[in-house]
Amino acid sequence: MGKNLNDIRADFPILEQQVNDEPLVYLDNAATTQKPKAVVEALTHYYYHDNANVHRGVHTLAERATEQFEAAREKVRAFINARSTKEVLFTRGTTTSLNWIAASYGEANVNAGDEIVISYMEHHSNLVPWQQLALRKQAKLKYIKLNADGTLDMTDAAQQITDQTKIVAIAQVSNVLGVVNPVKDLAKLAHQHGAVMVVDGAQSLPNMPVDVQALDCDFLAFSGHKMMGPTGIGGLYAKEELLNAMAPVEFGGEMIDFVNLFDSSWSQLPWKFEAGTPDISGAIGLGAAIDYLNQFGMAAVHEHEQKLVDYVLPQLLAIDGLTVYGPHEPAKHTGVIAFNLDGLHPHDLATGLDMEGVAVRAGHHCAQPLMKYLQVPATARASFYIYNTKADADRLVESIVATKEFFKNGTI
Ligand code: PMP
Repeated sequence: MGKNLNDIRADFPILEQQVNDEPLVYLDNAATTQKPKAVVEALTHYYYHDNANVHRGVHTLAERATEQFEAAREKVRAFINARSTKEVLFTRGTTTSLNWIAASYGEANVNAGDEIVISYMEHHSNLVPWQQLALRKQAKLKYIKLNADGTLDMTDAAQQITDQTKIVAIAQVSNVLGVVNPVKDLAKLAHQHGAVMVVDGAQSLPNMPVDVQALDCDFLAFSGHKMMGPTGIGGLYAKEELLNAMAPVEFGGEMIDFVNLFDSSWSQLPWKFEAGTPDISGAIGLGAAIDYLNQFGMAAVHEHEQKLVDYVLPQLLAIDGLTVYGPHEPAKHTGVIAFNLDGLHPHDLATGLDMEGVAVRAGHHCAQPLMKYLQVPATARASFYIYNTKADADRLVESIVATKEFFKNGTI
């Protein structure tokens, strides 16, 4: 990656600690990633030197804050290759972004009898907003099936998306199955039927190159905290012509042009959608996270994770009694790996791993319909990122085996 792994790890002081007397192995990156010093320092620097409200002031600090806030927007624009910063809105994260699309575009364009097409692998944040919109509008919510290996069934997608479809909303990378969905092909299919394509980029933006023009998606939602930025900041990309036609979701300061007693007019894009004081430091921190990722390039980030998957997936598959969900071919599986051990609740498995210093998640991963589809109540999930090593993968495998033995023999 152009920087050796020890140097990368030195950028993340949090990784240096012991947990339960063992060196921490952090494998919960799909939930949230750790933050490099550069991001924390960008926040500190902003608060120590430049803190002021944006867009309103003429004094030097206000100008500096505004400049840095808008520079962060430009960094996001370049990162996803949007045509203009008018197409990049700051939000609280993926969940807010998806809710905004449903509340604004959905409210105006979905009517009784129309269809919204999602899939069985969607995170609740890319499901409940559409479900609630469908209920409000008496529209039909349709689910694309999965193939036996957990990939999206594109034959079924072609059947589910029809001329009645107004919105297709799919995760580019599943937060459970670790598959990459062909959102470019889905966008083409959606457009052939006059629908818009919404991409949930929460798990793809942190891990691979994403180019909104190449994908030709209409909307893309993402979270800063999953790509080494702070919590509380994220983004919504949308094509300019769509945003021009859409109504703001929230009203108040910053987003107006003129306010009269009984009506108002809106500011230009992107500010039309950003009511109230934004998360200025969060945006600046996100910009620093993008700078940090750009020193490697997203292709290299992806390659690093892929090497870890190539290394760890066959070892996990070889553990007797361990079920791995999603594809078993490493090339089809990203660094998000969900699994269960026979006869053990995933919470007990995750607790056993934590005793060994290995942090993984257990639960339904905000994907209850997917759990039902897979016929499991919950799973454990390990997820890798750029600071993870082969030694971390070894520790995962060893601690799963140790936990299995513990529950068999009563010792660890
Ligand atoms: N979609 C996917 C695929 C996710 O993994 C997540 C986070 N787990 C979200 C949406 C929601 O992201 P956030 O909680 O940051 O809004």
